Amino acid sequence: AKAEGRNGYRFFSPRMQAQSARALALTNALRRALEREQLTLLYQPQVCLNTGAICGVEALVRWNHPELGAIGPAEFIPIAENSGQIVVIGEWVLRTAVAQLKRWHDQGLPPLTMAVNLSAAQFRHPQLPELIAQLLAGHGLPGDRLELELTENVAIDDPEAAAQIMDRMHAQGVRLSVDDFGTGYSSLSQLKRFRIHRLKIDQSFVRDLGHDGNDRAIVIAIIRMAQALGMRTTAEGVETPAQLAFLREQGCEEAQGYHFAKPMPAAALQEALGRAGRH
Ligand code: C2E
Ligand code: CA
Ligand code: CA
Ligand code: CA
Repeated sequence: AKAEGRNGYRFFSPRMQAQSARALALTNALRRALEREQLTLLYQPQVCLNTGAICGVEALVRWNHPELGAIGPAEFIPIAENSGQIVVIGEWVLRTAVAQLKRWHDQGLPPLTMAVNLSAAQFRHPQLPELIAQLLAGHGLPGDRLELELTENVAIDDPEAAAQIMDRMHAQGVRLSVDDFGTGYSSLSQLKRFRIHRLKIDQSFVRDLGHDGNDRAIVIAIIRMAQALGMRTTAEGVETPAQLAFLREQGCEEAQGYHFAKPMPAAALQEALGRAGRH
């Protein structure tokens, strides 16, 4: 924790110094990570609860650092956001994910949607709509095969500007989902105005469904509200058959989590899809 000096002067504890030294080292190393091809994408299946089929995947970025080993996005995405590197990293993620979607499409795999996480800075970047239009047109893919996952905080500062960006995405057919829904600050009136296709129920509500009556009530309320507003729901972090049964019973459309599959390399996902397709 932050220690208070005698004169009220704040200084950093040794632990905080070590943390910020690592953050600084990672910021510098991240600059070279892209050109050295140290970033990769894993894909986690999104399962349609009506049919049990894999109907989409979420792209999740990984950083394989040669000395420090695997560094998770929970650590390096905030660093990239603070240093501004998130824009180029996010562009690489989008390009790579859409190119992968195109490869699966060309291999004749069952149709999938590709969900990609966007940071707030990326969402607000003036070139984003054009980049997306180019990627889709370049690969000949319809917009509705791409889903952009946004968190509620993209709209905090300027809801009007956010609504305009969402309109531009929507005009291209691209779908927008609210990630980690229920953990942020979005107001219900905003939600109605935004072009939101899907709410992703945060895994913190799913985790304790078995024994927490409040979490059950929250999940039911989110699903009902989505239905009333014409939106879909995807539950995140589904790990047990009991969680799955509850969500299905309540009318949740899709689910994602270790119960089905962990995030995996493209080749493994292809394998899983091919198997599902032959059944
Ligand atoms: P998220 O978008 O909420 O992604 C879900 C996270 O939960 C992923 O962690 C996923 O691996 C993990 N997960 C999936 N199923 C389960 C489960 O059943 N149980 C548990 N305990 N966890 C599960 P991951 O891959 O470490 O990503 C962490 C966060 O980093 C993501 O949270 C997202 O906010 C961010 N992130 C990942 N990739 C990108 C990216 O390409 N761009 C941006 N801007 N953010 C990204
Ligand atoms: Ca996500
Ligand atoms: Ca999430
Ligand atoms: Ca999250």
